[in-house]
Amino acid sequence: MNESTRIVLNKVAAEYGTPSYVYFLDSLLRRITDVRRAFEGRFTISYAVKSNPNRELLRWISPRVGELDVSSIGELERGLQSGQPAEKMTFSGPAKRVAELERAVAVGCGRLVCESEWEIEQLNRLSQELHRTTSFLIRINPSRMPRYFGVNMAGKPTQFGIDEENVEAVLDRLGEWDMLCFEGFHIYSGTNCLREKAIAENFGVFADLFSRFSESHHLQPRKLIFGSGFGIPYYNEQRPLDLAKLAGLVNPLIDRMRRNPRLARAECTLEMGRYLVGPEGYLLTAVVNEKLSRGTKIRMCDAGFNNHLAAFGMMGMIIRRNWRIEKVNIRGDEPKGNYLLTGPLCTTIDIMASRIELPELHRGDILAIGSSGAYGLTASPTRFISHPEPREFLVTGPSEEARIMEVTESTENSIAV
Ligand SMILES: *Cc1c(COP(=O)(O)O)cnc(C)c1O
Repeated sequence: MNESTRIVLNKVAAEYGTPSYVYFLDSLLRRITDVRRAFEGRFTISYAVKSNPNRELLRWISPRVGELDVSSIGELERGLQSGQPAEKMTFSGPAKRVAELERAVAVGCGRLVCESEWEIEQLNRLSQELHRTTSFLIRINPSRMPRYFGVNMAGKPTQFGIDEENVEAVLDRLGEWDMLCFEGFHIYSGTNCLREKAIAENFGVFADLFSRFSESHHLQPRKLIFGSGFGIPYYNEQRPLDLAKLAGLVNPLIDRMRRNPRLARAECTLEMGRYLVGPEGYLLTAVVNEKLSRGTKIRMCDAGFNNHLAAFGMMGMIIRRNWRIEKVNIRGDEPKGNYLLTGPLCTTIDIMASRIELPELHRGDILAIGSSGAYGLTASPTRFISHPEPREFLVTGPSEEARIMEVTESTENSIAV
């Protein structure tokens, strides 16, 4: 982290205590701008709410991205409360309840992303009952995708989307659904990829499918959603994506796709969460206690996997590796030590980092877990063992003049600091 970030994090820890999530909005805005610039207007950006649904963060990001993707009726309500118009939201998710679909139709959610034939039938029936026409997209689950994606949903049995092999049969029925308006296609088949070539190749797969199905059924989709799959570095040895290089591979591919007259007028959307908010968030935690056990220096902290499941290696990782963790209140001249960092939970799996080298750590010192802006607080089992929930903060402006705004939503189990 840079010096300016460190100053702000020290200030938050000193004034508000720990554990605390801190999100930096200026750098977040830069990331949004960088993505827009790199693809030179070829894509609109849709923010995946589940990556960080904090209400104030949403209120800030909604107008800056222009579209939201929600995965539950709760997220749809959050989106509406953030000021996002219903027609600028897509609603995806593999097991939408009938009541959720009904509510989405009633508020005029812009585009329902249908993940099964049954869902399309329900949507048509509900739209008849409510006398509304509903726009929908078909989510395709491709039969293949390149390697190097941290998460991969293609080519295997999956609850997500309609298998590529079955899409034709569903499109054959489009005429039956009289209250629905077919808007286009959606694919999100993998994510957390740090290889530009693999992402571009995957977009090539998307473009081929979009073209093929549009041709076969004489469709002119208005919307094509590309689940971006853009990854971010979580470990020290990983490098961030090179946006310019990525755009250099993707832009010609999109231009080629658009030369197909059926796709020429489609609006292309990049749907993403972690790439935008992930790198600009930190979880601050304090060392509560220290001990030397059988030769190992242990530092027990006030944030455990109850506060940040992913950082503790429990969100789909096969092997736990140390995340990017830094000491915040460094003096600069302290010697380095080698530590086992743990959380406060009464279970052996509450390991934050092992054999990690950091400037000397003692009770009261503050650590920051980086890459924590996405899939942090709300992706963690915060009620486990009834510890206080982390508070949340938004930061704008540079170091000394930084404006720190508390945006904590729940004060479950809170204790005075
Ligand atoms: C979760 C999700 C995303 C965002 O994924 P990131 O890895 O955060 O970019 C996009 N689209 C859909 C449909 C999702 O479910």
